[in-house]
Amino acid sequence: MDTIKYQLDESAMPTAWYNIAADLPIPAPAVLHPGTMQPVGPADLAPLFPMALILQEVSTERLIEIPDEVQSIYRQWRPTPLYRARRLEQALDTPAKIYYKYEGVSPAGSHKPNTAVAQAYYNKQAGVKRLVTETGAGQWGSSLAFAGALFGLEVLVYMVKVSYHQKPYRRALMETYGARVVASPSEETASGRAILAEHPDSTGSLGIAISEAVEVAVQREDSKYALGSVLNHVLLHQTVIGQEAIAQLAMAGDYPDVVIGCAGGGSNFAGIAFPFLGAQLRGERKVRVLAVEPAACPTMTKGKFAYDFGDTAHLTPLTKMYTLGSSFVPSGIHAGGLRYHGMAPMVSHLVNLGYVEPVAIQQLETFAAGLRFARAEGIIPAPEANHAVACALREAQRCKEEGVSKTILFNLSGHGHFDMTAYTDYQAGKLKDFEYSDEEVALALAGLPSVG
Ligand SMILES: *Cc1c(COP(=O)(O)O)cnc(C)c1O
Repeated sequence: MDTIKYQLDESAMPTAWYNIAADLPIPAPAVLHPGTMQPVGPADLAPLFPMALILQEVSTERLIEIPDEVQSIYRQWRPTPLYRARRLEQALDTPAKIYYKYEGVSPAGSHKPNTAVAQAYYNKQAGVKRLVTETGAGQWGSSLAFAGALFGLEVLVYMVKVSYHQKPYRRALMETYGARVVASPSEETASGRAILAEHPDSTGSLGIAISEAVEVAVQREDSKYALGSVLNHVLLHQTVIGQEAIAQLAMAGDYPDVVIGCAGGGSNFAGIAFPFLGAQLRGERKVRVLAVEPAACPTMTKGKFAYDFGDTAHLTPLTKMYTLGSSFVPSGIHAGGLRYHGMAPMVSHLVNLGYVEPVAIQQLETFAAGLRFARAEGIIPAPEANHAVACALREAQRCKEEGVSKTILFNLSGHGHFDMTAYTDYQAGKLKDFEYSDEEVALALAGLPSVG
């Protein structure tokens, strides 16, 4: 059986992105205009994104060529390593085989440059001078700042205020790459001022920071907005991860039974999982696919599959997705990159169709797993990635109890070198679990827009 239909160069790096829209049994629901509630067309998105990215957003072509210039930048760190976690398997005394794909080797330390470089490239081609964006923990902001520096683009980042103060080194990294970083909510935008008038002590959220960035991006002809997750074109760019994993596992003569990714907006999860899911959708091999979210931001496991806005001020189009409501402000867990009220529409669609199993894990279990992983494999995972590690440990434990050997693959989306405060706090016993009651979730969901 020919399981590899993806295009690779001689180093096993993909030369095309894989678009799962080509293989869906049912197309994903339409994206709606926030004013008219009618499906958006490419022209509606033009103030925000260059046309090449808009066309990728709506494309149903299976393989989309990666431009040569983007490929040559990817080659600095791609293909990323795929490791068999033999020492971890031993420490767990599990019959399971555990593999992980490590995206922490990129310059910014996570998977996010895979899309940041592509987005900067297409914006540069379109004559854009400035990119405006938001960042939570700072991973996306630093990735876009890096990509902007490569292409000579100005980068302006609205950073969620709590992280701006908690993660000074992420901010320093962005500034080192040449970006300007503003704590959000800020006095610089109408959306920011509206929030501050109501909540002067607001520590911010991704939803608020997105509103500020979108508002500023559309004010200048030479400025565009960039988003680091959620959208189809972002998920598309991340599929280099899973395509490489398929090729690398084939070299080892293996194929996973279970594929695991942590999910904030859904992009690294889609990156590892979609090429495998595509093979399944085309009638090749079946896999169990798990998307892991924090119990403190339980979008897929407690939210609703409904039309909602991507931001707090309701400037973005409406998409059908699992959501906790755009006014939901998650508790201050350390996995900042997973604190988003919604989930990528494409991932949501696949959860809704039953192809992806959502899992929610508490913070303390994820850090315990991260320590175990670090002590066996030497790599310190980002707090976000610890969710995937914890899920892999659960699956390995299940194999042990049931006496079966399965092949488990997870994506280690980034390293935790800028997150050592979180590890220190965990070891000092200062972290706690969060659980939302059904009443709290119902209250947040009560504000969902009604769509006919
Ligand atoms: C941003 C980030 C995530 C979460 O974003 P997704 O779009 O869900 O992948 C996960 N891991 C790391 C290391 C991140 O930087």
